[in-house]
Amino acid sequence: MARPVEQRRCHVCRQRTLRRVARLFEYEVSHDGRGPVKIRIPDLEVVACTNPDCKPAEPGDTILHDDAAIWRITVETYRQLGLLTPEEIRQGREDLGLSLQEIADLLGLGGNSLSRWERGRVYQSRSSDTLLRIIFKVPEARLFVERDCHGHDESGQEFKEKFPYLETDETDRSKWRKLRRFTPQDHMTYAEAG
Ligand SMILES: [Zn+2]
Repeated sequence: MARPVEQRRCHVCRQRTLRRVARLFEYEVSHDGRGPVKIRIPDLEVVACTNPDCKPAEPGDTILHDDAAIWRITVETYRQLGLLTPEEIRQGREDLGLSLQEIADLLGLGGNSLSRWERGRVYQSRSSDTLLRIIFKVPEARLFVERDCHGHDESGQEFKEKFPYLETDETDRSKWRKLRRFTPQDHMTYAEAG
């Protein structure tokens, strides 16, 4: 295991004056073809030399970002860009009970995109982010994609098991058939009819 930071020497002044301290951290990132956004973390925990006599060539030369700091920068970047964070993506997927491959198949994602987003390796595009939010929050959207984008057909029973709250009146077959066809207009009619 690595030695505690307090026991290591600063590479500039050679003193054992490194400590964990909270520092303002700012950087700019461009995402999705838009102009740069300033990411700001007022209290990032970093390792820095606290020796007042330490004179590095650049003020940042004695500041070290450990894995925890790098991960926080990553997560804050997702958050401040307005994207789902890696943890939110993984949680949303697990709440649906779907594997990485199943979501990839559902949304037509290439390669390891979803896995990279969940591990914070790549920032998802804004359109992919929107698609994920819809799939996570609107159960009917998943059915719509499965049926209308991939040509699958759910039996009425499967549909009822997945979306029991949509079936308010089992004897009302006309409502049920409307929902099964599931055009946006039908769905609105169904919603209005309550
Ligand atoms: Zn120093």
